[in-house]
Amino acid sequence: MSLEPEVEQALASLRQSMASGRLAHAYLIVGAPRGAAGVLAERVVELLYCTAPGERPCGQCAKCRQIAAHTHPDVLWVEPQKKSRGILMAQIKAVQDHINLTSFEGGWKAVVFLNADRLNPYAANRFLKTLEEPPDKCLFLLVTDQPAALLPTVVSRCQRVVLAAEAAVSGAELRAAVVLAMTGIEGRSLVAAVERSRKVLGVLKRMREEIEKTVDADEHTDTPASEELKAAKEIRDARIESLYKETITELFRWLLLWQRDVLLRVVGADGPVAPAFPDQVEAIQQSAAALTYRRALDNINTIEDMRWQVAQNLPVPVVMERGFIRLTAADDRMQNAE
Ligand SMILES: [Zn+2]
Repeated sequence: MSLEPEVEQALASLRQSMASGRLAHAYLIVGAPRGAAGVLAERVVELLYCTAPGERPCGQCAKCRQIAAHTHPDVLWVEPQKKSRGILMAQIKAVQDHINLTSFEGGWKAVVFLNADRLNPYAANRFLKTLEEPPDKCLFLLVTDQPAALLPTVVSRCQRVVLAAEAAVSGAELRAAVVLAMTGIEGRSLVAAVERSRKVLGVLKRMREEIEKTVDADEHTDTPASEELKAAKEIRDARIESLYKETITELFRWLLLWQRDVLLRVVGADGPVAPAFPDQVEAIQQSAAALTYRRALDNINTIEDMRWQVAQNLPVPVVMERGFIRLTAADDRMQNAE
């Protein structure tokens, strides 16, 4: 069977972990649940049970076929229920029952969560207990394309497997925001710097609203009793905060890549690294022409500083404005010096 290269690569690495007895008990597979990530989860489960004499999984033996058909008795598939769109407490109870039963095959038990981000907060908290004290020979696979929507406590107990192609898609909007800020505003004045920061903050604000909508859409499940409402609100806010932080991290990644492209131009290094913004060659060239090597490095430090300040919980608007003023002033000082 032919697999996408990133699935093949991830599977090879997990096969090796298993062969050397270092398989983790829980993996977070980041990618499309109905695409590459779902396929990888299925292959990993097949690895546990496949009986083929050659390379495993074969995808053809009785066990592999049972797994593909979702009929293997030792493998439980957990998906959001159609009506509520959430993974509910009752499903977590079923998971706990499943792993406490003796394995039919006398070996592994496996649980695969498809769209694991849909675990509602109560269900996630209950599942956390299982993740903290997993039984032996038990494998959990959490498949999601929105890892930031999961409780951080759940994520921290899983090993992350990121399918590269999926990760690249998610940042498209932030990449566009960086291009807009760096090319959409002329000049090196203070006003231009503030305007750049405003553009980026505008995009972040819109994305935060999207995050709030997504999180709230998932909250209709398991209507909590009144005494639980406060806890529910805290969990909601924590999820939004963690998704928003991930968004900002991604923004800084793109800003750094922009400055890296500029730095590569400044040193005249063509070829060794593919540019992150191949469609912006002219704008990158223009920035590079106004910078010395040291200034270009300074700009990278500036973005590292901004990232650090946000991690220290400084207000994002303040960090952005000061950061963009520094980035813009780097060009200015250069001009004044000459
Ligand atoms: Zn097989």
